[in-house]
Amino acid sequence: MDLKRVGFIGLGAMGLPMAKNLIKNGYEVHVASHRNRGPVEELTKEGAIEHSSVKDIASNCNVLISILPTDNEMGNVLLSENFLAGLSSDTVLIEMTSGSPGMMKKVNSAYQNKGIRVLDAPVSGGTAGAENGTLTIMAGGETEVLEEVRPVLDAMSQNIYLVGPVGAGKAIKAINQMLAGIHMIASAEAVALAEKLEINMEMLKQVVGKSSGASWMLMNKLDSLQNRNFTPGFKLSLMKKDIQIAVDEADDQRLQLASYALELYKKSEPESGEQDFSAISKYVLS
Ligand code: NDP
Repeated sequence: MDLKRVGFIGLGAMGLPMAKNLIKNGYEVHVASHRNRGPVEELTKEGAIEHSSVKDIASNCNVLISILPTDNEMGNVLLSENFLAGLSSDTVLIEMTSGSPGMMKKVNSAYQNKGIRVLDAPVSGGTAGAENGTLTIMAGGETEVLEEVRPVLDAMSQNIYLVGPVGAGKAIKAINQMLAGIHMIASAEAVALAEKLEINMEMLKQVVGKSSGASWMLMNKLDSLQNRNFTPGFKLSLMKKDIQIAVDEADDQRLQLASYALELYKKSEPESGEQDFSAISKYVLS
């Protein structure tokens, strides 16, 4: 299979730097603009090939990568009859959206019916990881499919885990996001309390960093919480979507903390949905 021609769909905060890393690593990247032409212009300057639609990307590449906002866009793009009609059976779809396991399985079964192989491959590591090519990939699918496309994934990531069948990648990502969303709220409350008690923030970071209350979130987001810097990064509306996936998958009332976190993210979304998810802290930090 010609791995060098890669179609890339979803050129946002994550997709744009990921596509740039593919170009840097010698891949011929094929793109089409959606609403915003900026990312396509940036990529074509670096050598990407522009098409007039995602259908044309599909019919020109054997490897397709998608990293779209939610299940809705995954369904609209990947399950459209028009798009499916352009795919040949030797295509591999690498699906990197943080979507639901259910939508991932639906896409997989539509593609299996056409003999097309799918790798479920959501990512962690944020925009910095996307820029530096150091993402963690949580792959769901067959070992042979992963091995075939591993060189493409290596151009964007540092750690690749095969976590189970198609859908398992999305599931483990949802669990990660549920924890991250809760940890952000906990970190915001820690900063609020430290401010009230007039604790030096560097000292807090140093001491808690070596104690049982430490979390990745507190260590990495304390400064932006303290500075009220809510530039995305990772949009609050996307975090709400991720915790919703976790709560929906639980399908009962046992995830009490996640359910409460979801309510807070939902309440914050109208005002802060386009800001970084650390803007959830506004309810506790004045
Ligand atoms: P963005 O909102 O920044 O980007 C989404 C991209 O998808 C935009 O380029 C948008 O184009 C494009 N798009 C939307 N609808 C379509 C469509 N129908 N056809 C083609 N392109 C479309 O999101 P992110 O890049 O931040 O996130 C993408 C996914 O990655 C999400 O599932 C998110 O949860 C996950 N993720 C994000 C991380 C982060 O730190 N940001 C970290 C890890 C995972 P346009 O703007 O032109 O509409």
